[in-house]
Amino acid sequence: MAYQVLLYYNYTKIVDPEQFAKEHLAFCKSLNLKGRILVAEEGINGTVSGTITETEAYMEAMLADERFADTFFKIDSSEGHAFKKMFVRARPELVSLKLEDDIDPKEVTGDYLSPKEFKEAILDEETVVIDARNDYEYDLGHFRGAVRPDIRSFRELPKWIRDHKEEFMDKRVVTYCTGGIRCEKFSGWLVREGFKDVGQLHGGIATYGKDPEVKGELWDGKMYVFDERIAVDINQVDKQVVGKDWFDGTPCERYINCANPECNRQILSSVENEEKHLGSCSPMCAKHPQNRYVKEKNLSDEEMVTYLAAFS
Ligand SMILES: [Zn+2]
Repeated sequence: MAYQVLLYYNYTKIVDPEQFAKEHLAFCKSLNLKGRILVAEEGINGTVSGTITETEAYMEAMLADERFADTFFKIDSSEGHAFKKMFVRARPELVSLKLEDDIDPKEVTGDYLSPKEFKEAILDEETVVIDARNDYEYDLGHFRGAVRPDIRSFRELPKWIRDHKEEFMDKRVVTYCTGGIRCEKFSGWLVREGFKDVGQLHGGIATYGKDPEVKGELWDGKMYVFDERIAVDINQVDKQVVGKDWFDGTPCERYINCANPECNRQILSSVENEEKHLGSCSPMCAKHPQNRYVKEKNLSDEEMVTYLAAFS
């Protein structure tokens, strides 16, 4: 059967997020949807999967609610569900920059750029393109020439930008993320920080990849997604692999989580290298007493020595 995955967000007022989450969960379950939805007083952000009929019914109901009437759904066809369960959770914020003084994108945000305008910005040498996502997302795929902030979580982004301010301050800055929600806040923050000319890719990479004119061009690698698919194609013109195996640097698009439960770092690794390195990103992680991989395989101390040699 044909399935669809919907990706969407809307910065809109939700008066009682806890109550809304309960009711919305029951509604999603009644439609047999699976996925993850976050709600906050500032709005809603979700990814859900279901059959075409189920997902169409969901979109219809959402658009009939005046709070969500202008929601833009990014739709991917799929062979099955992209999640195992259905979650709807109330949170203080949809995406967190951990700011003392939070940004309301309805009041301050960067200029919205269409995929065509964004493509022109990438080609313009005077424009700096900043990836607003995490390092592991960038490493699987990104826009050609985009700046890679060295961050593992979105809330580290403001500090990283402040540390590198001189490099971008006087230039036109454009930014992008998966579906556009992080950029709404991040670009607003850039404006408030004093950046004069700030743009954001409207609808995110997901929209750019489906645009009939740009066809995902100038995107290299795959796009990281926060569901069971992990990686999806964007560029319909000239696909290239940019992901590199964490251990040997060979082309790779396979993600694993480091087997040290206190690390969990997402790294790209072949099956062979995963085995060779005990599923761990470093010797330190391989030696961790709670290492999942070591526990599963029940390795002896002698075997451990052999495995650890693989890191050198
Ligand atoms: Zn690790």
